[in-house]
Amino acid sequence: MRTIAVVGTGYVGLVTGTCFADLGNRAVCIDTDPERVAKLREGILPFYEPGLEELVHRNVRAGRLSFTSDCREGVPGAGFAVIAVGTPSGQEGEADLSYVRAAAEAIAESMTGPLVVVNKSTMPIGTGDWVASIIERKRQVPDAFAVVSNPEFMREGSAVHDFMSPDRVVLGSDDHAAAETVAELYRPLGASILITDLRTAEMIKYASNAFLATKVSFINEIAAICEQLGADVKEVARGMGMDRRIGAAFLEAGIGWGGSCFPKDVKALEHMASVHGCHPQLLRAVMDINRDQRRLIVQKLRQALGGLEDTLVGVLGLSFKPNTDDLRESPALEIIHLLQHERARVQAYDPVAMPGAAKVLRGVTLCEDPYLVAQGADALIVTTEWNEFKQLDMRRIRELVRRPVLLDGRNIYDPAAMRALDFVYIGVGRAAGNSSRSLISA
Ligand code: NAD
Repeated sequence: MRTIAVVGTGYVGLVTGTCFADLGNRAVCIDTDPERVAKLREGILPFYEPGLEELVHRNVRAGRLSFTSDCREGVPGAGFAVIAVGTPSGQEGEADLSYVRAAAEAIAESMTGPLVVVNKSTMPIGTGDWVASIIERKRQVPDAFAVVSNPEFMREGSAVHDFMSPDRVVLGSDDHAAAETVAELYRPLGASILITDLRTAEMIKYASNAFLATKVSFINEIAAICEQLGADVKEVARGMGMDRRIGAAFLEAGIGWGGSCFPKDVKALEHMASVHGCHPQLLRAVMDINRDQRRLIVQKLRQALGGLEDTLVGVLGLSFKPNTDDLRESPALEIIHLLQHERARVQAYDPVAMPGAAKVLRGVTLCEDPYLVAQGADALIVTTEWNEFKQLDMRRIRELVRRPVLLDGRNIYDPAAMRALDFVYIGVGRAAGNSSRSLISA
């Protein structure tokens, strides 16, 4: 049993602390937000993540998991201090490291013995050395410490599963023995563990996220070409994905990527590359395509309705992806904003993200179910591919809408079935008819 202090109880920190506790360690989760800590002590989680609540309760009951707002309570006696605070975008797209700095300082001032500091937040290349310099400067004891980069690859919505069954664990340090001690924490998972140097580990995280975002933007670009040339991007992606060199994951055309990671991480990588004299043109194109994707959707809707002013648009899904209530950089919110800018009225539904949405959306009617969203709508847009939207009674929806325009931003419906129900079905990259076939035979 090891004692692990985890600084930051967001998606990554809370899942990490809880899972390490579940593996038999003692985990103390620390957060500067006292309200969050008070709620966690009452067993109330700050966000929705499948399977996490039960795991938190179980490990608190077993005495392996606890919460505090003070590093001085959590760090002394711990062999590891995991930094899992946010690294949001700064003004120029760079990663804002102010939370990391505060966490590193608090850890340094609280350590009372030898410590391995584990950088789990996504941090720009070189941050590990900077964290080490902060600890060196601020620590009050002469004991040895080491910094190990341990980027996190979990996905919101399946974070517990991803932590417990990772494809790989990446560790980077200039102190190999310290990296080995962190590797021991993960040993029970039976995953492949890659130990490398600090900067390489930091880069693996950015390169991985940038690559996945590139896959999505790539298939979205192919989708636009499919629309013009009469092919169906869903089938194209299926055919591509069967090739093991390509893989099927992240080849879903739609309204683009969002969330708390891809947007800020691609931006931060582009920023660090360009300030170091590189010309990251591919990363810029990946971001451009993604931004345009939302605008294209709104343009399609404008065209279908002959203008958006005074129309009523129903939006299905608010979170940036299914199985999470995270609204950060959600494409749905951006689309709602664009619609409101063109003076459309919006009513929306999401299975779990509505409490958060109520705090950030203005002038949007939040409905209790998808059928109320359809009621009287001039168009419906699917913005998040929640499972429950795949099984809706579309016949009933067809009767409830005022005009039957269905904009399937996540390609979850069968176009032929929707057209058979008399919807004007518009997907992403799914040619409406076969007008372009003539282009081929001409
Ligand atoms: P989050 O915003 O959900 O949570 C961050 C938490 O840290 C908040 O509760 C905040 O109050 C707390 N905090 C801030 N400063 C603190 C300090 N000095 N001491 C203690 N607590 C402090 O963040 P997140 O989504 O969990 O992301 C954390 C990091 O992990 C980011 O760098 C992110 O890029 C990375 N990451 C996130 C995911 C994901 O799916 N969310 C996946 C992989 C990596």
